[in-house]
Amino acid sequence: MTTPPKSHLFYQSRLRRPMLDQARGVYMWDLDGKRYLDGSSGAMVCNIGHSNEHVLEAMRRQMEKSTFGYRLHFETEPAERLAEKTAALAPDGMDKVFFVSGGSEAVESAIKLARQNAIALGEAQRWKVISRQPSYHGSTLGALALTGYAPLSAAFDPMMRPMPKIPAPRAYLDHLDASDEATGHHYADMLEARIRDEGPETVLAFIVEPVGGASTGALVPPAGYMRRIREICTKYGVLLIHDEVMSGGGRTGKFFAAEHWDVAPDILAISKGFAAGYVPLGAMVAKNEIVENVLDTGGFLHGYTYAGNPLACAAGVAVLDEIERENLMENATTVGAELKAGLNALMERYEIIGDVRGLGLFLAFELVCDRDTLEPLPRELNAYNALVDIAYDKGLIIYSRRTRGGYDGDHFLVCPPMISTSAHVGEILDTLDASLREFQETTVNRRLK
Ligand code: PMP
Repeated sequence: MTTPPKSHLFYQSRLRRPMLDQARGVYMWDLDGKRYLDGSSGAMVCNIGHSNEHVLEAMRRQMEKSTFGYRLHFETEPAERLAEKTAALAPDGMDKVFFVSGGSEAVESAIKLARQNAIALGEAQRWKVISRQPSYHGSTLGALALTGYAPLSAAFDPMMRPMPKIPAPRAYLDHLDASDEATGHHYADMLEARIRDEGPETVLAFIVEPVGGASTGALVPPAGYMRRIREICTKYGVLLIHDEVMSGGGRTGKFFAAEHWDVAPDILAISKGFAAGYVPLGAMVAKNEIVENVLDTGGFLHGYTYAGNPLACAAGVAVLDEIERENLMENATTVGAELKAGLNALMERYEIIGDVRGLGLFLAFELVCDRDTLEPLPRELNAYNALVDIAYDKGLIIYSRRTRGGYDGDHFLVCPPMISTSAHVGEILDTLDASLREFQETTVNRRLK
């Protein structure tokens, strides 16, 4: 593997990977010439595939004009155009767009705007943001306080204000014997109970990933959940924040995943697929009256140097154009259905697959020890790393996390770019099949005997 023996870089761990050489479409190549199918679009980012010529051309054109214009000195045409396009995609009445450079920044911006809105309305006692357990909302301290994932947050607890959590609607684990609609209400009503317990006058907002991502693995809420959540938030004057950082951008088949339930939030956060990996970019989109309230009472006490960067925004415009021009959301629906059917077929053959879930090309499967009880595989098998590594060796990239609060389950996100074809789906499924077989033979059978 061609990587420098010593590196000055560091991320979370000492993990080393091969050096990336180039990437085109759904494929990536390392310096040794080995090819990988990007079956998770990076971290659910590269939704339109790598090195799209239209996006590169738009970036080149913008680069020749200007690459930076500080927001206090200039307005820029790409930022205006991207804001206009984003507002057109967002629910009615959500016309105000605030640019950032990533998902954590979008979430931080959302909770700070919500807080200033409460102050503007004379409700300064509202500060609690309720979120779900498990959930992932980002790694900066504000977003981390909302993240329901103790292995990431526990070390920093003394530095953060604890925020209330309610259980995520993982009906498949809770074995509820109720209709999908009743199940949705069961989980949503936990929000109402929590708001009452906390004291409604202290609750500022509720934040939810419409389709759960890294923490819950493509968790699609039960019917009735999102709507009931909306009703409860409205009833108590609690702002509803949709974290569409991973679920937004089209891979569920709708630009915002919440459109599947026809529900609009008060504020939303988007990033990842928004500029599809071409540049670091994200946005917070908010209802007009919230922004007006804040701007009327002294302004928004928040901002990032790179906000609205013209090069980033030009890339964003080109990405949105490409999604539209190539009907990529329709493709995500059709190809996603093929991939999901294939994952379900694998589940019939591999007892260790306990659940297959997701929407469009936002799909996941979960490994278990016992399909009836959904008891997880023993932690020491390290399944979430082991299977990913086997697939990686075979040239398929997938994304995994330990689920269920941190340490007792393994899920795998299979989320190739929205440009994927049936042939790519076939290749993903063949490699997954071979990887699961190897994982079963080399790890599970040997260790569980
Ligand atoms: N929210 C969600 C739902 C996410 O999936 C992520 C990233 N995985 C974030 C927020 C944070 O985004 P970033 O890593 O770009 O800061």
